[in-house]
Amino acid sequence: MALIVHKYGGTSVGSTDRIRNVARRVAKWHAAGHRMVVVPSAMSGETNRLLGLARELSSDPDPRELDVIASTGEQVTIGLLSIALKELGLKAKSYTGAQVRVTTDSAFTKARIREIDDAAIRADLDQGTVVVVAGFQGMDELGNITTLGRGGSDTSAVALAAALKADECLIYTDVDGVYTTDPRIVPEARRLATVTFEEMLEMASLGSKVLQIRSVEFAGKYKVPLRVLSSLTDPLLPLEEEARSGTLITFEEDKSMEQAVISGIAFTRDEAKITVMGVPDRPGIAYQILGPIGDANIDVDMIIQNASVGGLTDFSFTVNRGEYAKAQEVLATRVKDAIKAAEIRGDDKVCKVSMVGVGMRTHAGIASLMFRTLSEEGINIQMISTSEIKISVVIDDKYMELAVRALHKAFGLEQAA
Ligand code: ADP
Ligand code: ASP
Ligand code: MG
Repeated sequence: MALIVHKYGGTSVGSTDRIRNVARRVAKWHAAGHRMVVVPSAMSGETNRLLGLARELSSDPDPRELDVIASTGEQVTIGLLSIALKELGLKAKSYTGAQVRVTTDSAFTKARIREIDDAAIRADLDQGTVVVVAGFQGMDELGNITTLGRGGSDTSAVALAAALKADECLIYTDVDGVYTTDPRIVPEARRLATVTFEEMLEMASLGSKVLQIRSVEFAGKYKVPLRVLSSLTDPLLPLEEEARSGTLITFEEDKSMEQAVISGIAFTRDEAKITVMGVPDRPGIAYQILGPIGDANIDVDMIIQNASVGGLTDFSFTVNRGEYAKAQEVLATRVKDAIKAAEIRGDDKVCKVSMVGVGMRTHAGIASLMFRTLSEEGINIQMISTSEIKISVVIDDKYMELAVRALHKAFGLEQAA
């Protein structure tokens, strides 16, 4: 008898029919003797709808109140799913994040989980009850409701699995696993039977929203066995077949198989580039530009400083598009005159496309094939950043889909590895 955590995303609980199917699937696992904890997201579109209501009233709503509002989406689905489970004759009980005591820090809208009190859940599981816990939400030390950032139900599920030392955490979603790239953009994308934890971490951090990055971090830290699979199959599919389906996140490279050099392509439109022009090239300049940006809690991603001409240089960096205006304001008010920069330019119509694969460690030529492919499509590369297992480029966002498709083809990702 295993302890299993299931997580169901928005589409998977998008209607009462779908919720009934989730209940049937969970009942099947329960009938096989497993102790079940289920973490649903809000119904698809609901979190956007709720946040939209707040934005109708204010262009800059209080983040504490946003969390009060957004967390209600999951409160609805835990209740509905518990009712559906009871209709099937199971014992079921719903808990909000606060009721479980999912304690987080107080960073509203992007809180981090600190601790989970598993006592109530364990007591219920001992009684044969299916425990349904709201994803995406927690409570800070002062009792304020917090949320974990968009896509945060993945993190709730993996954190619960870690706290309960679950045997497996299954992330049910609207695709049947992790693909070489988003199958919505490249229909020829191929499902990966396994992906290493390291690659999944890179893919999630570089924009593949199939798993929230923090859920992958938790899985790595606590060695939670994690699988991504479809919630849209027949809920009565034989359990053995379902349990082997989808994509398994592995902690070791599969040495028995010929490892593909590139596992996947990730991309994000969530980017903006800022260039500080005509900066005196002297020690401390990066600190003088990026210090105030950091003080304003703005995360910087890629950074480039050009060679100086006549003692002056240009300094470019990227930030999340949502923080572009704030970054511009910080530079205009606190940096430009202080460092005697000539001009500040910005572009929020850029995107980032990244290739990820542990095989890059041992194979040369990946970067050159990537750059050649982009040049053959006439796509100008504005910035490049590399690590041991990834290469990212910043390009004009109107070429994003073209770039992803061309790279997917050039690296033969549609073929079986
Ligand atoms: P859920 O609501 O179940 O959490 P999400 O919409 O957050 O689902 O994540 C699933 C979606 O992630 C898919 O529908 C797919 O479009 C997208 N996606 C992006 N990159 C990938 C990838 N590499 N593999 C699979 N899906 C991906
Ligand atoms: N409902 C939340 C969101 O839309 C959390 C999640 O779906 O994981 O971001
Ligand atoms: Mg998601």
